[in-house]
Amino acid sequence: MKHFAITAGMAVLSLWLPQEVRAARQATLPEFIPANPYSEFYVDEAASQTDAITIDFCAEWNPEFPWNGHRCCRQPKSKKKMHWRERRRGGTVCYAERFKANFCEEMTADQRGYSDQVASGEIPDILSFLDVEMTRSRGQAYCTVNNGFLAFGRRLIPTDENRIKLRFPGRCVEFGTDPMIGMLEWLGRRVNSGYSAPEVKGVHLLVGDISSPKGGCLAGRNGLRGHASHTSGQDVDLGFISAYENKESPNSYVKHFDGKPNWWFMKQVFRNPYACVKVVFLDRTHIRKLAKAARGDEDWQKFGRFIRHSKGHHNHFHIRIGDGPGPAGCQVDAHPELETEDSVPMEVELPDDVDANRLPAGKILKTS
Ligand SMILES: [Zn+2]
Repeated sequence: MKHFAITAGMAVLSLWLPQEVRAARQATLPEFIPANPYSEFYVDEAASQTDAITIDFCAEWNPEFPWNGHRCCRQPKSKKKMHWRERRRGGTVCYAERFKANFCEEMTADQRGYSDQVASGEIPDILSFLDVEMTRSRGQAYCTVNNGFLAFGRRLIPTDENRIKLRFPGRCVEFGTDPMIGMLEWLGRRVNSGYSAPEVKGVHLLVGDISSPKGGCLAGRNGLRGHASHTSGQDVDLGFISAYENKESPNSYVKHFDGKPNWWFMKQVFRNPYACVKVVFLDRTHIRKLAKAARGDEDWQKFGRFIRHSKGHHNHFHIRIGDGPGPAGCQVDAHPELETEDSVPMEVELPDDVDANRLPAGKILKTS
């Protein structure tokens, strides 16, 4: 591993060398090995598609590459090596360079182009576009959900058809893998068709953080990690479905939870044709309400065990997906109980009353 890191460092220096020299050196690079993943369970299947991965690829896509010792995957710190503040917080901090009001400058030309194409109508239907894109089967999520990055990240774009509202539209944290964006677009359209009557037109799907344009650590309060995961475009936070006649759904997370509409929504989540769902994190008081609403519904047997209690999820769902479509759990012998938010005990997010666009970098935020 040590040898690999040294060679990797040299490879980065070689980025400034002429093309032929680089190509020759590239050929001598050792095969990509994910650097000490959290646990086997966390390694994304995409990370095993190693043939396309080179140090150049990691340098281009992993936004933490300059600071993580020029490794493809950030190495998790052991508890022993953590600063006492990190230990007290229960998690490592993001690199200082990741603490910023928004991540928009990390967008690639392709990502900007895609947004323009959707806005101008050049891509008239996002889902049929994604259907084609997903056949390209290129890896997008690398390393682990807690210490990973996102290549060719797709932006989620709110439209009238998908009834999606972004919690922080100016923060550029609505990027995910194609299956993630396909799932959310499909879910938004289900909300649109499920609540089509004029008196419930105000019902929308509130989307919180997914990942930044290239993934990586999402810094929250005071430079600390805002989330344990959300680094590889495979985790999304969603507001609860709030369906009342002649009332707009709230634009921020609320603790109020109605069992019936949210059980309907959970069934859509697990049945979406774009991404298998590994786990949904939710506070146990809300899970009880879901179970009650699902009484007599055989789908509870199928999906219920994948909805798991996790501290800090009293006002939003946290959904983690796999690499593509599939059954709940993404594999036959799924163990949703092994999916955790890992070392960060709760999601420390920006409070709702903050205008993320006007947030000065370095400002200490109090959570609501
Ligand atoms: Zn989350």
